[in-house]
Amino acid sequence: MFQKKVPLTPPPARVLLSIDYEPWFALSRRYDSIHSDLERRSLDGGFARQAVDVILEQLGMAAASFYLVGEIAAWYPEVAEKIAAAGHELGFHCHVHRSLALPEDLEQDLQRSQDWIKRYGVRGYRAPMVRIAGAAYPLLARFGFRYSSSIYAPPGTLLQNAGVWELPVSTWKWGGSSANIQAPRYFSVRLLLGGELPFGSSFITGLSRKAVLRLIENALKAGHSPVIFLHPYELARPEDWPGRIRGDLLRNPLLLPFVADKSGFLKQLVGRFPVSPLGAWLDDAIRGGCQDG
Ligand SMILES: [Zn+2]
Repeated sequence: MFQKKVPLTPPPARVLLSIDYEPWFALSRRYDSIHSDLERRSLDGGFARQAVDVILEQLGMAAASFYLVGEIAAWYPEVAEKIAAAGHELGFHCHVHRSLALPEDLEQDLQRSQDWIKRYGVRGYRAPMVRIAGAAYPLLARFGFRYSSSIYAPPGTLLQNAGVWELPVSTWKWGGSSANIQAPRYFSVRLLLGGELPFGSSFITGLSRKAVLRLIENALKAGHSPVIFLHPYELARPEDWPGRIRGDLLRNPLLLPFVADKSGFLKQLVGRFPVSPLGAWLDDAIRGGCQDG
């Protein structure tokens, strides 16, 4: 169960920018069934290693949260090193990208990534597909995580479960705030029919970056800090892209917004708005004190 929290001194409003740093094939669930580590690494084909330099350059002086897939840290240790050295926050996305709806799957992933999680003092978690079970929070607490960003809710929503903070990916809610928030709370027809547009998802940015920039601006004007995520393949283009993913697009045209180039969106975002990692915002909020909402 979530408890609502309200910062006594709300931190200055800013965009809480995150990159779910995953192999290009994580886009399509079709690859979830590949169990061989070698096969997944060769399918990635060095993309996860090459993309990091491009993305760090695009970010410039802006600091973001990178929720890293653990097997990328194992394949290419320099990816985690470069992200941390450039002053960004390293968070945990999963060890192997697939649904972690079952707590036992999450526990197995947490164990497999312990090495780099400990080395970099990782405190933040983003569930694959932004889909988390309520039972995951005590597990995250046991593994020393401070926060998660794994549900959808309007900007300004701050929650706690089993002592773990939850900073939801942002939605725009028709007619105001969302009552009775429970995990899981993911991008679904149900969420949309409830009058909620998950503009923090790069899917919506792929439909209209102008609309997302406007919603971000409105949230900031209201004093809130919207949570936004992007993927590496939306910023650095894999070789033969989108040809490489053509078959998946034909099978599932809803993937198309994730294939759109978002480097122009990122440039506008970091040029127009203050940006920070999620962990830094949370530190500020906790320092100022929080009360039950
Ligand atoms: Zn992901």
